[in-house]
Amino acid sequence: MTSNLEIQNVTKYYKKFRAVNNANLTVEQGEFFTILGPSGSGKTTLLKLIAGFEEVSSGSIMLKNENISSKKPYERNIGMVFQNYALFPHMTVAENIAYPLKKRKLRKQEIKHKVEEVLKIVHLEQYAGHYPAQMSGGQQQRVALARAIVFSPPLLLLDEPLSALDKNLRQRMQIEIKSIQESLGITTISVTHDQEEALTMSDRICVMNNGGIEQIDTPENLYKYPKNRFVAEFIGDINLLKGTVLNEDSENANIQLQNGQMVTIQSRDQSFDTTSVLIALRPENIQLAEAGKALKNTLKAKVMSVIYVGEALIILVKTKEGEEMKIKVPSLLSHAITVGEELTFGWNPQDATILEDESSEN
Ligand code: ATP
Repeated sequence: MTSNLEIQNVTKYYKKFRAVNNANLTVEQGEFFTILGPSGSGKTTLLKLIAGFEEVSSGSIMLKNENISSKKPYERNIGMVFQNYALFPHMTVAENIAYPLKKRKLRKQEIKHKVEEVLKIVHLEQYAGHYPAQMSGGQQQRVALARAIVFSPPLLLLDEPLSALDKNLRQRMQIEIKSIQESLGITTISVTHDQEEALTMSDRICVMNNGGIEQIDTPENLYKYPKNRFVAEFIGDINLLKGTVLNEDSENANIQLQNGQMVTIQSRDQSFDTTSVLIALRPENIQLAEAGKALKNTLKAKVMSVIYVGEALIILVKTKEGEEMKIKVPSLLSHAITVGEELTFGWNPQDATILEDESSEN
């Protein structure tokens, strides 16, 4: 794959406030790349820098090997879909979509042809003559997408494109946009604070926090192998158990928990500044102890509550040391779990990750 967009050492100050701190990333040709982070983490600022609505304080932005850092937005030729769609209310759907082509001074016949083609792609052939106000949120969103891709831009930017839609429609549109993006092979960068949306749509995700990039990886790797506590906690549910690394070889680390018990966790070429670590364990990777089931690491804890969520049971437990943990097991258990009982559970060494304990002082 060839890289399409490269962000090199980009920093953005608003007066003295640093909104983006030395960002480096590469987006490949045809990739769906999501910038994910909590409110105020700098993701919209990074998108604005790519679009050209804000200027970098330092660093450069390369689009297809050309430095576009100081170009005006319209000179960058990038397609963009905004959170509120930003459709022209006095123009029909077809006129809205034709707008970028008219600005680029294409011939009438060619404009007509391209508008028809893109209306088909977004399944709105019947709506060419409608006005935005006559259309649903999902339809308006598709018009905005059509307008952003009609001039075949080298890059498509999506700014929280689905946040105005209700949950069901949002999930349908995630799949629809992803499939349009894939079939056109258009390189796309999307900004969202919605973890599920990022996991569903992206080839890779860039997690931002406080203006910095915490981790860039595939959805699966981010979920399975978060690099630090922030990423682990931001994406999905996680249990974090404090421990001390006693010894480590190329395969496993032996870690002592706060209660003195030893557990074994698969090591992944990590190196830590301290021996104090956190064991990161997803609730669904914990298994209940049963006769005949071999679990390498087992713990006992008291059941605090049991929540039925359809396909799964969420069991909240508390260890003697006061550590609370969440366990997720299939709801079709052979026996009932009761509040107050002592539960024995465990996990396999490869199902947990070791993180540096950033709060630790040793
Ligand atoms: P959200 O999800 O809430 O949109 P975000 O991650 O997109 O958040 P940004 O909009 O990039 O965050 O803002 C990052 C930080 O920069 C915030 O603290 C914000 O207050 C600040 N900021 C953004 N735009 C400006 C501006 N024009 N002037 C001053 N500060 C700004």
